[in-house]
Amino acid sequence: RAIVRDIDNLEKENPSIKPQPVPDVDPTVFEMRFLRRIRDLGEGHFGKVELCRYDPRGDRTGELVAVKSLKPENRDEQCNNLSSEINILKALYHENIVKYKGICQEEGGQAIKLIMEYLPLGSLKEYLPRNKSKTSLSTLLSYSIQICEGMEYLGSHFYIHRDLAARNVLVENERTVKIGDFGLTKSIKDNEGYYTVKDDNDSPVFWYAPECLTQCKFYLASDVWSFGVTMYELITYCDSSKSPMTLFLGMIGRSQGQMTIIRLVKVLQEGRRLPRPETCPEPVYDLMRRCWEQSPDGRISFKCLIAELSTMLK
Ligand code: ADP
Ligand code: MG
Repeated sequence: RAIVRDIDNLEKENPSIKPQPVPDVDPTVFEMRFLRRIRDLGEGHFGKVELCRYDPRGDRTGELVAVKSLKPENRDEQCNNLSSEINILKALYHENIVKYKGICQEEGGQAIKLIMEYLPLGSLKEYLPRNKSKTSLSTLLSYSIQICEGMEYLGSHFYIHRDLAARNVLVENERTVKIGDFGLTKSIKDNEGYYTVKDDNDSPVFWYAPECLTQCKFYLASDVWSFGVTMYELITYCDSSKSPMTLFLGMIGRSQGQMTIIRLVKVLQEGRRLPRPETCPEPVYDLMRRCWEQSPDGRISFKCLIAELSTMLK
C-alpha cells in the first residue's frame, strides 16, 4: 500500500507520467475515412479487390492493404457470402492462406468490406505467364505442395474451398504462394462429408469434379479434383491457349449454359481428361490423373499428394 501511495504522490507531482487510458480500439476495425483507394487489383464473379492505403495519419505512411467488396449489382444477394468469407478467413492461420486483417463498414453499416494483406505479385494466373524464365519445374512443384498444405489445413477444419484455381492462388514472393478467395468456401459437418450447392449459375465448371456437375455435391475429394486442374494450370504457366476451359471446349465443342455442363459430364464419364502438357513429366501427370478419378473415393488425398510431390522434389 505504501508503494501505491508513493506512486500516487509521484503522479500528483509529475502529471505527465500519469498512465493514459488505453484507447479502446479494435485493430481489426478499419475506418472508411482513412482508407485511400490506389487501384484495382482484380475482380471475379461477385467481388472486386482494390489496393488501398490505410492512412489514419494522412501522410502516406500508412500500410497497403487489399480490400475486397461486392460489385454493386451483387450487393444484395451475395452479402451473406462475403460475411461468411470474412468469418471463415478470420479463423484461419496458415502460412499458405492469405492473412485476414479486418473489416471496414460503410457509414450506416450497409456494405461491408474485407481487409486482407496485400500481395504485390498478384495471383498465379497473372504471375506465371510473366515469370516463366525464373520459374523452374521444381518451383512449380513446390508451389503445388504449398497449395496442398493450405488445403490440408482447410480440410482439417472441415471446410471445402469449392473454387480452387490458379486465379485464386496468390504469390507472396518467388518461393511462396497462398490460397486466397474464400468466397465459395463452405463448412461441412463431418458426418455429412459433403456440401450441396443450390444455385450454380456462376460455377467454375471446368475445375469441377463430376459429382459437383451431376449432383451438386462437394466433398473434400472434389477440392482434390480442382487441385489437379490447378496443377495442370501451373505446369502450363497459365497459358490461356492451353487453359482448362480452352481444352475442354475443344473436346466438347462450343455450346451454351446447361448444354456445356451436360457435354462436359459426358466426356468425363467416358474417361476423357485434360491431356499431359508437353513439358509435364509422366510422374507429375500421373499425380494429376489420380486427382481425376471418376469416383471421389478413388482419388488421392492432399496428404498423399504432399508426400508424393515431396519425393519428386528430392
Ligand atoms: P473474387 O471472389 O471476386 O473472385 P478474388 O478474391 O479471387 O475475388 O480476387 C480477385 C483478384 O484480385 C485475384 O485473382 C487477384 O488477382 C487479386 N487479388 C485478390 N486478393 C489479393 C491480395 N490480397 N493481394 C493482391 N492481389 C489480390
Ligand atoms: Mg476469385
